[in-house]
Amino acid sequence: MTPRWWALVTFGVLLVALVLFAALTVPWHRAPAPRADQVAALGRFPPEQVARARRFRAELRPGTYAGMALGLMVALVLGLTPIGARLVELAGRPFGDHWLARAVLGGLLVVLAGEVLTLPFAAWRHTIVVRYGLSTQSWGGWGVDLLKSAAVSVVLGGLALAGFFAVTHVAPRWWWAFGAAGAAGLVVLLSFVLPVVVEPIFNRFTPMPDGPLRAELIALADRDGVPVRDVLVADASRRTRAVNAYVSGLGPTRRIVVYDTMLTEATPDEVVSVAAHELGHAKDGDVLTGTILGALGAALAVVAIHLLGSWTGLLRLAGVDAIGEPRAIGLLLAVAAVAGLLAGPGQAFVSRRIEARADRHALDLTGDPATFEAMQRRLGSVNLSDPDPPTWEFLMFASHPSTVQRMAAARAYARGER
Ligand SMILES: [Zn+2]
Repeated sequence: MTPRWWALVTFGVLLVALVLFAALTVPWHRAPAPRADQVAALGRFPPEQVARARRFRAELRPGTYAGMALGLMVALVLGLTPIGARLVELAGRPFGDHWLARAVLGGLLVVLAGEVLTLPFAAWRHTIVVRYGLSTQSWGGWGVDLLKSAAVSVVLGGLALAGFFAVTHVAPRWWWAFGAAGAAGLVVLLSFVLPVVVEPIFNRFTPMPDGPLRAELIALADRDGVPVRDVLVADASRRTRAVNAYVSGLGPTRRIVVYDTMLTEATPDEVVSVAAHELGHAKDGDVLTGTILGALGAALAVVAIHLLGSWTGLLRLAGVDAIGEPRAIGLLLAVAAVAGLLAGPGQAFVSRRIEARADRHALDLTGDPATFEAMQRRLGSVNLSDPDPPTWEFLMFASHPSTVQRMAAARAYARGER
């Protein structure tokens, strides 16, 4: 068998593995959230509050979509014309056109070009978020965050680029096999490492102080049979008024994180309800599920890129000889941008199902749908979410069920509808 045949077979096996794994682990069934309950839940919000949230979301929309469209256009121009290849050559020139300089510096140049060009739209969005009082961040703080995330991207991106193109350089016929294994391994590694290495760059995490709430949360986790190392509080208030909580990490790095804003904005009962949702993620191994799906997806993407590399028309557009050479970075970026756009709604759908299951877990664990509903109303109000967003936007982007869906699910649960 030729390497190309092996690649086709690997692609098929990975695709089947991904589909099977998703079919078996994603909770496709969703607990009922009748529309009538959603409408009733919407009625619990003061109309002027809903109108303000919708105005806020409407004001953000032009900047968001213009930024996305420009980012996509930049990726397509860099990838489907020789401009991307020229930029990579330019970056490698001071280093004698060495492949490593082209890979790392050229790659970062191509990626950062898109980031810099879409920066004005991010700044525009920031002015709106500040005007509505959701962000508490000055331009200085905003800029520092931006530089920090750029630094993280440079380090992680630089390592990934160096690793990927070292493999294509050393093994021109079989790079896709090593690359696929490496990409999958990297996704797994990042799941362990990001919470303890990258998250602390942006926030300070402190163990939730001793007191009745901490004791109640630990007791809740015990009752749930979920081993949780710690409940941490993030100092999100120096950036935002928004409330949130999440679970991240795997095994020894797993932790439940609650924003400090949650402790000031929500009642202790509501914090318990949120923690019960997060415990659901921990108990169902959602971080692990996401990591395995991500690892399979990353491996599949590398093999797919290799197979795309036999499409000579595409290579000619980008002005490159092979898809595995550093000059093709622009083309890779364009492919990734289009693939991300196409995969987005599917990923959002899977995420919403997983979130709905965690909601259900919270209801089971606390047995308190009234507090759960109050907590959802609070989250929606403080975060200026549209409680009942436009369907198309919801289907394209929403990672969580809408606020009224989550409230309606609690109502149906209270009536015993499962
Ligand atoms: Zn969740």
